[in-house]
Parts: sequence; C-alpha cells; structure tokens
Amino acid sequence: MNCSLPHRVLLSSPMEAQQDRLCLQPLWDFVTAKEPLIQSPFFPVLFSFAAYMAFCLPYIALDFLSIRLPDLRKYKIQPQNYPSLGMMVPCIIQSVYHHVVLIFPVTFLHWCWRPMHLPVMAPELPEVLLQVAVCLLLFDFEYFLWHLLHHKVPWLYKTFHKVHHKHVSTFALTTQYSSVWELLSLGFFAAINPLLLGCHPLTEMIFFLVNIGLSVEDHSGYDLPWSTHRLVPFGLYGGAPHHDLHHLKFKSNYAPYFTHWDKLFGTFMESHSN
Ligand SMILES: [Zn+2]
Ligand SMILES: [Zn+2]
Repeated sequence: MNCSLPHRVLLSSPMEAQQDRLCLQPLWDFVTAKEPLIQSPFFPVLFSFAAYMAFCLPYIALDFLSIRLPDLRKYKIQPQNYPSLGMMVPCIIQSVYHHVVLIFPVTFLHWCWRPMHLPVMAPELPEVLLQVAVCLLLFDFEYFLWHLLHHKVPWLYKTFHKVHHKHVSTFALTTQYSSVWELLSLGFFAAINPLLLGCHPLTEMIFFLVNIGLSVEDHSGYDLPWSTHRLVPFGLYGGAPHHDLHHLKFKSNYAPYFTHWDKLFGTFMESHSN
C-alpha cells in the first residue's frame, strides 16, 4: 500500500519531496489521529456510504429548489423531467441494502485479508495527483470495456445492466441504482487500481472520493458552470451531458468520464451542451 521510494525519487529532489510531503502532512496527521475508526472493519462501508450521500445531497437540494426557482432550471439537462420523492426513496433503500448486505461483507473480508497499514509520513502532492489521475484513467478504461460488453451482449444487458437503465432521465441517487454484479464490478475496478499502483492510503482515499464525486456528477442531471467537463480542455472529458445522453439514447457514450475511448471505438455522441 505504501508508495515505493524509487517513485518518490523520480518525481522530485529530496528537498522538494520533503516540501511536497509537508503539504499533505497536516491532513494525514488529522486522518491518522482517527486511527481506531479507520482501522475498524466498519470504516470502508461507512466511508463509502457517507461519501456517496454527501455528494448526492447538494443535487437532491437542487432538484427540490429548481422546481420552485425557474432560474435554476436552465442548468437541468432534461428540464422537463424532475425526480419526485417517490423516485428517490427506492434508490436510497436499495443503496442502504447494498451497503449492508453486499459492500460490508466484501469490505470485511478485505479487512481480514489485508488490514490497513497507516504509515507515519504523508505522500508527496505531485505523486498523489499523478496516481489519482492514472487511477481515474484506468477505471474509465475498465468500465468502458465492461459497459460496452454489457450493451453488446443482450443476455448481459438484461441480466446485469438493465436495472441501471431504469431511469432515462438520471438524478444523483440513480448513480448506484444498479445490479449486485454491476456494483461489485465497479467496486473491484475502483479497488484494484490503487493496489496495482502501490498507492499510499491517503491517495487511495482521495481517489475513492474523487471517483464517487465524479460518478454522482455524471448522473446528477445538471450541467453547471463549474461541471468537470467545462474545466477539462479540448472536450477530453464528457461528464454529466455525455452520460445523460447514454441513458437517453442507450447506444453511445459508454465511458463514464473521458471521451477518448468512445471516439476511438466510434461510439461517441456529441452532447448539446458541449
Ligand atoms: Zn449503459
Ligand atoms: Zn449511468
């Protein structure tokens, strides 16, 4: 789980490395001060659920607010479709159920097999940024292949992926509205990449947060002025309009975040807001 020394040496000189590490040391000290909680077998499931709900809440508030405030409706990708409380509640129930009966047993087994080791030193900032970016690119590629396969093979679509397509107009809480197999696959892709790269636990946590945040943004149904696809240049990032079109049209935009795989495979469809 620790970053290896050669990686650090390649990225910066010892003096710079010390400064880069010091950037994140207060944050890491804050995290490790809660070691009994972090080492608990309940931590991964609590972290996952709390982060998911925390990213969903602002969009849920926006859904209720923009019904009353027409000025906000211009940011809604499908302004004719608003989720009701009756549509949100089953998503929350399914998410709680999946976290209790599926994610907790899996993370508990992982906790038994590989207890988390918390090093004293924080990772270097450039290394964290680089590894989070690589983890996202790898996750994007893995999910693109999984997603394409589950649309091209009718049996896979019907059995495992159709559940996630229940909502043609997505809202934040539909992010994890999916089959057990889909949730396990995505969880596996998210977990394996930091492991393969030998990430520091702090890098791993940051990647999980960024990944959950971006997947919620993808399903939020909003194209806001600060949406990620507006911050990444050259149309490299698809984001919410890109994924919204996937739920609307089914036959394009299989990559969750970036656009290069869909462009390479001829499955890219331009969204109206790009
Ligand atoms: Zn799909
Ligand atoms: Zn989706």
